[in-house]
Amino acid sequence: MNITKLITAAAFAFAILATPAFAETCCEKAKAAGKDCAHPCCVKAVKDGKVCEKCNPPKK
Ligand SMILES: [Zn+2]
Ligand SMILES: [Zn+2]
Repeated sequence: MNITKLITAAAFAFAILATPAFAETCCEKAKAAGKDCAHPCCVKAVKDGKVCEKCNPPKK
């Protein structure tokens, strides 16, 4: 097997494994880091005692 194919396969496998991290919303990431989300739309929603629906669409 040539090395380029091996690297491509490894990168592809990593991309699949990393996908759940990309599925996290900005607010979930901020929460995981112990912070409040800094997005203006989210800050506004938090002030109203809600979560931003734009960034946190209801899960199906
Ligand atoms: Zn957010
Ligand atoms: Zn938002």
